[in-house]
Amino acid sequence: MHFIFYRPLIFAQIDTMNPIAIQLLSDRVLELEESATIKMSQMARDLRDKGHSVISLSLGEPDFDTPAHIKEAAKKALDDGFTKYTPVPGLLELRQAISRKFKRDNNLDYAPDQIVVSNGAKQSIANLSLALLNEGDEVIILAPYWVSYFEIVRLGGGVPVVIKAGIESDFKVSPDQLAGAITDRTKLVLFSSPCNPTGSVYTKEELFALADVLQAHEQVHVISDEIYEYINFTDKHASIGSHPGIKDRVITINGMSKGFAMTGWRLGYMGAPKWIADACSKIQGQFTSGATSFGQMAAITALESDLGPTYAMRDAFRKRRELVIELLSEIPGMESNHPDGAFYVFPDISFFFGKTLRGYKINNSEDFCLYLLQEAHVAVVEGSAFGADQCFRISYAASEADLREAIGRIKAALA
Ligand code: PMP
Ligand code: GLU
Repeated sequence: MHFIFYRPLIFAQIDTMNPIAIQLLSDRVLELEESATIKMSQMARDLRDKGHSVISLSLGEPDFDTPAHIKEAAKKALDDGFTKYTPVPGLLELRQAISRKFKRDNNLDYAPDQIVVSNGAKQSIANLSLALLNEGDEVIILAPYWVSYFEIVRLGGGVPVVIKAGIESDFKVSPDQLAGAITDRTKLVLFSSPCNPTGSVYTKEELFALADVLQAHEQVHVISDEIYEYINFTDKHASIGSHPGIKDRVITINGMSKGFAMTGWRLGYMGAPKWIADACSKIQGQFTSGATSFGQMAAITALESDLGPTYAMRDAFRKRRELVIELLSEIPGMESNHPDGAFYVFPDISFFFGKTLRGYKINNSEDFCLYLLQEAHVAVVEGSAFGADQCFRISYAASEADLREAIGRIKAALA
């Protein structure tokens, strides 16, 4: 039997059959990979538009609404006339609130003039890539990594150097691996904890062991992406920037999207050495200017208010994690990790490689995910997009009913 996959035309995909596009578009965009998370969620939407009942566990975004007090603050800011351009690095009051937050939650000292607010943490990372990288500079990326790191580094002319950990080490790289990857061209180390896509959380001891390695390499800076800080099921979030030996070389990324369910607001920020913050401001001043004015006012309220609503969301995610792990354990051949944070699980599916399911041969994680989309109408994301082809990512930021239904369908499709 021949299995035909549904391969839709993605809106962001470049039509390689169009000779004018191929001739006139920049090499930069032609060589750029599309974001796999966004691609998969668009494929799910397309299939749904065709009348299929699709469950999408592909996009990493809280399914909760933004807490009411934050929305009220934005409405009030609009009524109060906060409708104008803001300073490029963000409103001073917001940078002061972020500075206090860094001290309060992370024991990090970033003064307001070391903070840049951007249109999402994605832009913060892009600013850094453009501000810091020259052609050929190496960036060590801890894998599994968030999809966009690789492409953002390449866009800045950098060379991604991937060091990789598997499920047997809870997807965490060792100090020895890090030491072995550093060369005299290494400029940055980039990682997230809690991690997208694995949900793994580095402990303070693990982070400090990595920092000990970096201490001797004075040209190397670290980008620590802590956007899932508040979705952490262990006792305490740790920041590598609190290591005294490297604290002046750490750029800490965070944002409003995950902890406050504000993905659509597009608000992220970084704390950085002042010379790096100034450089990022310069880039942002030519690209987008300051982030949305009334959103920034709401972000002050979010950061300065009681974090009860944030922790209520975290508790809901923890319950769902238990459910998802339990349901996955009932699928023969599926080996799930036990994540400590974020809202992803990243099961190892190498058992299925080389096998033929309903006439379709599964050779890699992309085959596996396309098969699940086609056969089970469940959208998940292939591990290859995160630098780990033997796995796939489930985002469990979805209702319990959807999670039960989706994993039931996956089980049936793999039976
Ligand atoms: N870093 C990580 C690890 C993420 O998962 C995301 C989610 N999109 C981002 C950065 C960017 O978040 P945003 O641009 O919505 O602030
Ligand atoms: N960070 C989320 C994810 O990994 C949102 C999608 C994106 O920005 O790529 O799914």
